[in-house]
Amino acid sequence: MNSTRRALLPVLLCLSLLGSQALAAPPASAPPPQSETSRLVATFLGETPLMSDLQSLVDEIGGRATGTQANLRAVDWALARFREAGVEARKEAFRMPVLWLERSAHATVRTGNVLFAARVAAMPYSTGTPKGGLTAPLLLVGKGTEKDFQALGAKARGVFLLVETEELKDIEGLFREYKEAAEIEQRAVAAGVAGLVYMGSRPNNLLYRHSVSLGERNTRPMIVMERDAALRAMRLLKTGKALTLTAELDVQSGPAYESYNVIGEIRGATRPEEIIVVGAHLDSWDLGTGALDNGANVVMLLDIARQLRKLGLKPARTIRFALWNGEEQGMHGSWGYTKTHEAELDNHVMAASFDIGCGRITGFFSGRRPELSALVGQALEPVRGLGPFTQVDEPIVGTDNFDFMLHGVPNLVANQEPALYGPNYHARSDELDKCDALQLRLNAAITAALTYGFAQMDSRLPRHSRAQVEELARTSELIEAMKSFNLYEAWTSGKRGRK
Ligand SMILES: [Zn+2]
Repeated sequence: MNSTRRALLPVLLCLSLLGSQALAAPPASAPPPQSETSRLVATFLGETPLMSDLQSLVDEIGGRATGTQANLRAVDWALARFREAGVEARKEAFRMPVLWLERSAHATVRTGNVLFAARVAAMPYSTGTPKGGLTAPLLLVGKGTEKDFQALGAKARGVFLLVETEELKDIEGLFREYKEAAEIEQRAVAAGVAGLVYMGSRPNNLLYRHSVSLGERNTRPMIVMERDAALRAMRLLKTGKALTLTAELDVQSGPAYESYNVIGEIRGATRPEEIIVVGAHLDSWDLGTGALDNGANVVMLLDIARQLRKLGLKPARTIRFALWNGEEQGMHGSWGYTKTHEAELDNHVMAASFDIGCGRITGFFSGRRPELSALVGQALEPVRGLGPFTQVDEPIVGTDNFDFMLHGVPNLVANQEPALYGPNYHARSDELDKCDALQLRLNAAITAALTYGFAQMDSRLPRHSRAQVEELARTSELIEAMKSFNLYEAWTSGKRGRK
């Protein structure tokens, strides 16, 4: 699918950068100086440290779950990178509500005198088990629907339930997984299970981390089991064999602690109090090294800040390059930012998030603000050759635009072709080689145009009131989405979002 596109894009890019101006220039006069945006965009066609930065972050630091030493090293790494580029940078503390990390996870399945090991990953916020593991019967619960649980009835009490999954193909499948998991886990807790076992949905027995939907309130072991082992267990159970599962999960948990966002800032020349935020999360899960999720977008934003400085461009508005932390465990860094900077939020003109790997940016989710979509179109005009761009005017939940949205700040999420994002999401295989370097460069050009465009344009949209955000929630699928990410209560109770 991508091969044709790969061949086409550079051609289109050249057309957009050179063609329009060459055609517009009056004959026999010197060509007009390139616009600032064109100069900025063109730098990503030259040599920039984009990919060497990504390699350094993912190979030298590696997986950087919030709460680890590697995560703290990533914070220092990002600060140093901004400063080397001459960009003013600081770390800003915020509170992580609990520590959760996996040290190790093992499982064995037994029937009669047959025993086999199954590779497993503890799901974030799974509880640990005693040393030597927790042993209980393993039963099937189909796909974990209401009907499946009813069929099991009281037999679900005190056992491990194995949930059958379909193989994950795309991002829609990922959102479906999140939505279904929230319902399955509620039913499992109500049924009094000992623990929950998801059949891994990824091909090639890839393991991945999928947060428990109950978050830190979870009270049970929950694991993902490599697909082939889970299929074998399922086949044995279907032939009537009795199985037990021993799961040994060594989980490090602890109380609230401080973590840090890294904010690189280029101060506005004429409207410094007005702020554009472009953000990507620096933390990652730790089975792989977080190249697609989300190292790629971190180094992309770093490079845009670097090139802006190098060219000496002076945006009218202040641009903050926000490298969020604590995203994977509940978007805590961006939430923390909206608390720390609450007094400034009226002056936040736009906050954009980039979090779908290295696939082509196809447009932006603009949260039911058609006038915002129009401004995005205007900002992307200088890179229209990298399109077409289609704005999706719906709210999206699952990344760091969330608290800006709940605070009524005009917010965007880059919509991207899934490329290799889906199967590698939070998985062992999220490594450097999954990122298409050329496409990341083109995304940098698109994002630079968006960022600089919003920093320069005369128009700006007002922040929405709480009533307007409530209206958005009522009239879109926002409430359902918040529920599936265990975020709805934080909004209704006033813990998160605009008062
Ligand atoms: Zn992410």
